[in-house]
Amino acid sequence: MPRRRPGVAAGDAANSPPARRATAGSLALMGILDEDVAAVRAASDIVGVISQYVQLRREGQRWKGLCPFHSEKTPSFSVNANEGVWYCFGCQARGDVITFVREVEHLGFPEAVESLAARAGITLRYSDRNEAEGRKRRTRLVEIMDRAVAWYHERLLSAPDAGAARGYLRKRGLDGDVVREYQLGWAPDAWDALCRALRLDEQDARDTGLGRVNQRGRLQDHFRARVLFPIHDAEGHPVSFGGRILPGTEAPGNQGKYKNTTETPLYSKSRVLYGLDRAKSAIVRDGAAVICEGYTDVIGFRRAGVPLAVATCGTALTDDHVALLHRFAARRLVLAFDADGAGQAAAERFYEWERQHDLEVAVADLPAGQDPADVAQSDPDRLVAAVDKATPFLRFRLDRVFVTADLATNEGRARAAERALAAIAEHPTDLVRDTYVMDVASRCRFEPDRLRAQLERLRSRARPAGGPAGARPGGRAGTRAVRNEPPDPRRDSPDSRGGAADAGHPSSVAPQPGGNGARQAEQEGPAAEVLRHAIHDPEVVSRWLAGELFDDSVQGGVYRALLGADTHAAALAAAPPEIADLLARLLVEEPTSEPFDAVRRLLTEVARRRIRTLRLVGAASGDPAQALSDLAFLNRAIDDLRDPGAAADAADRLLAWLGQRVGDGG
Ligand code: ZN
Repeated sequence: MPRRRPGVAAGDAANSPPARRATAGSLALMGILDEDVAAVRAASDIVGVISQYVQLRREGQRWKGLCPFHSEKTPSFSVNANEGVWYCFGCQARGDVITFVREVEHLGFPEAVESLAARAGITLRYSDRNEAEGRKRRTRLVEIMDRAVAWYHERLLSAPDAGAARGYLRKRGLDGDVVREYQLGWAPDAWDALCRALRLDEQDARDTGLGRVNQRGRLQDHFRARVLFPIHDAEGHPVSFGGRILPGTEAPGNQGKYKNTTETPLYSKSRVLYGLDRAKSAIVRDGAAVICEGYTDVIGFRRAGVPLAVATCGTALTDDHVALLHRFAARRLVLAFDADGAGQAAAERFYEWERQHDLEVAVADLPAGQDPADVAQSDPDRLVAAVDKATPFLRFRLDRVFVTADLATNEGRARAAERALAAIAEHPTDLVRDTYVMDVASRCRFEPDRLRAQLERLRSRARPAGGPAGARPGGRAGTRAVRNEPPDPRRDSPDSRGGAADAGHPSSVAPQPGGNGARQAEQEGPAAEVLRHAIHDPEVVSRWLAGELFDDSVQGGVYRALLGADTHAAALAAAPPEIADLLARLLVEEPTSEPFDAVRRLLTEVARRRIRTLRLVGAASGDPAQALSDLAFLNRAIDDLRDPGAAADAADRLLAWLGQRVGDGG
């Protein structure tokens, strides 16, 4: 390989992939003196540094491994230790030890140099005063956090007022060794004990999140009467705390089981994973990470001999978290939390991550209703097995279907197949889907081709032309915005996520009671599905409901019966027979779509109906200009309802418009 000038990149191209980086850069602008940068480069052992993230194998003069910057199964990432450079034959990324660290740790150039300098014991000199100040500031904040960790820790170990906290931790299996290893702490029940002890000024307190100025203008600690878990960044610097209140001690002004440090210059919760600093080398070695929700879960896993565990800090797993884990070569993410409860929106993101980062999302096989921390105490071996026997996410969902299925009857097998297909339909990969179809076919004793045809129907329904449910790899944010709007607290019900987002009607594998249920469902369209949501998720769809949406007198009657009664039983009792019949059926049917998708489809249908009416009578009416403007409004609304970014607004506008037109018979 010809010697390249090492790919030192310009200071603020931090977000572009390495291959597309400019490689020239004026070191003077970067603040650190050229000769110091050169010294750091020379002093760093490139194989040693890269090995912390990538498993390298020696091949002649080179070292090879799986590229951390693109997804691959055979190694094309190569390191030349003599030249101090690395190169990927797959994605053409390349650079030197500094570029590598900044890419893999998401650091800027100076931070990467500083990180390597610290490792090599080199003291850096800066050419630019501001730069030097900024570095110094961060270093100072980390030092304050270090002192805070030590101070809180000492309080937990020895202060008389920490007795209850020590007792609580012991009861949860976190004895003195654990407390010391993880530097757990105790924030006393006092206003400003830490700020005074550390002599923090207002700005240091604010920039570390350790304290703030209260309404009386006095500096006050952020944490009070809580057990503290110090949270470190991936390099091991303390950046924040998670604070657990002792059971039964919540007080006004100090509520919530967990309270975390607010976002600071040091800490962003969507980018930090608790325990990653300790877990990263094991994650690189095993190519896997275990994702927990609690700090004690991470500790529990480690104590049980599973060093791969990390936890999100009071947030769901984010794209940034997954990108971070991927940088540490995680090819498999094992979820050790209630994955079922994470629900529909999460499922989409899991598949997206699998596709984007070529990784597998699996679900740990934990005993129902128990946290890893509990299991660590009662049966540590069970935790090891939970990770070893983790099942792929789709398999997990299908298991959930079959565990409740009655495979002894034809109806039960059909129903199970139907639900299983709905889950399979969401998986983006053909081969994966087909493997699971074969599995469902054999478990339910159906012809695979029959199920494949049904699966295709489900998938084509989930992708209306231009609709938000279609696969739009570039448009995740937009897609999510619609799918999550309005938020659906019931997504975790296994039945309510029949899957195909736009499946407004029950699918037709299952023989319906009465034999013609499927046909009936096809005929009744989105209005009935919206009514199912009105029954099963009232808080989610109520803001989208209005009498004008229901043209059919029986469906409208059901809507009014629900509005006028406190309970479903009362509505049923008061309704005339025909309406009660429909209501009774809807009460036992589960919605099979996302609530807002059903609303969207119904609104589209209503708008189309209005357009037809306008065309028939509007042109002949007294005000053709009004008719034209109404037509334009309705057509625009239909377009917008298809657009993920605009659908919610369009729904509001259309509902307001329909409300106005009630009186004039439009
Ligand atoms: Zn590569």
